[in-house]
Amino acid sequence: MVVRVSFMFSLDARRRILVTGGSGFLGSYLSEMLLKAGHEVLCLDNFFTGARMNVEHLLDHKRFELLRHDVCQPLFVEVDEIYNLACPASPVHYQFDPVQTTKTSVLGAINMLGLAKRLRAKILQASTSEVYGDPQIHPQPEEYWGNVNPIGVRSCYDEGKRCAETLFYDYHRQNNVNIRMMRIFNTYGPRMHPNDGRVVSNFIMQALSNKPITLYGDGLQTRSFCYRDDLVDGMMKLMNATDDISMPINIGNPREFTIKQLAELVLELTGSKSQIIREPLPQDDPLQRKPDIERARDFLGWSPTTEIHEGLIKTIAYFEELMSSPKPLQPT
Ligand code: NAD
Ligand code: UDP
Ligand code: UDP
Repeated sequence: MVVRVSFMFSLDARRRILVTGGSGFLGSYLSEMLLKAGHEVLCLDNFFTGARMNVEHLLDHKRFELLRHDVCQPLFVEVDEIYNLACPASPVHYQFDPVQTTKTSVLGAINMLGLAKRLRAKILQASTSEVYGDPQIHPQPEEYWGNVNPIGVRSCYDEGKRCAETLFYDYHRQNNVNIRMMRIFNTYGPRMHPNDGRVVSNFIMQALSNKPITLYGDGLQTRSFCYRDDLVDGMMKLMNATDDISMPINIGNPREFTIKQLAELVLELTGSKSQIIREPLPQDDPLQRKPDIERARDFLGWSPTTEIHEGLIKTIAYFEELMSSPKPLQPT
């Protein structure tokens, strides 16, 4: 058992928490927030897309531990809660080794659910708006079953995440595992990987280096962008909700933009002179996406508070600092 010693924090309230994918964009910030809330954090990562740099500032913290491990392998540790975030999230990264992407979602879910079952630990799954595929209902409520191509280039991610959801609900029904299912919509902010190919990081990096802004297709496809801090706040609220909320919950910002509008906004906020150029729309790129967040409002009292201008300004500042840093851009 974990030895819990604290003068500042109630022994009952402090928990030992496993964060898989903990050195990634969202996992590293979540780990930081969990430490701030007084918990012990076991941060697990295989460093596929995560960077050691993201958690370097936590390494000396006495309640933080970093473990290099692949969630496709069984894991025997003692924890009270599990946030399962391990999985590459950017299309460029998850399509790099699609078989490994599906394995990470499916075998990772099996192993983490097996761990949760043995420990009677509460487990939250970082699912995605991609379970709705190229949605024919707009905005997307949680009741929507989606429109997903099972054999396309995005399927390793979409179907892997859908199968993980299936496993979560079967472990819940069959083994009484206490689950939380969070469907995350496009999220951006500091610590995004500068070269991960996602639209916010691409546009900001291109604008800051005065390279052309690559707009895929006609740029009229839409996304709704949530700032990292709002997202992680929603994630912790879902895990900590007193009600036994096992149903899926959308967490995202319902303010919808065309990708062309996003490009123009990034140009305006960076003051860049970059030209916007057109590139082909990738296969199966969803045409529209916007969360219905009524459930999050009703059950968690959560809604995002960061406007896109404010979030982008903070993200631009992060990438500016990264570009001027003497350290390499992709340390692991
Ligand atoms: P990220 O790529 O920065 O983080 C993923 C982390 O998982 C990385 O640190 C990576 O090294 C690690 N990882 C990958 N495969 C692993 C494995 N087999 N074993 C152990 N670790 C592994 O991405 P992110 O944006 O921080 O996303 C975190 C989670 O949230 C992912 O599950 C993603 O699918 C989900 N999500 C994110 C978004 C978004 O917009 N950021 C949207 C929907 C869902
Ligand atoms: N597992 C794990 N840690 C644990 C318990 C289980 O990694 O503490 C893995 C285990 O290797 C197994 C998976 O989780 O492959 C599913 O566990 P479960 O008990 O559901 O299935 P079983 O062991 O009966 O196949
Ligand atoms: N996109 C773009 N230029 C880029 C990167 C992405 O126009 O340099 C578009 C992409 O085609 C998609 C949207 O931006 O329509 C969001 O892409 P991202 O990869 O960030 O996320 P996802 O498609 O998974 O929502």
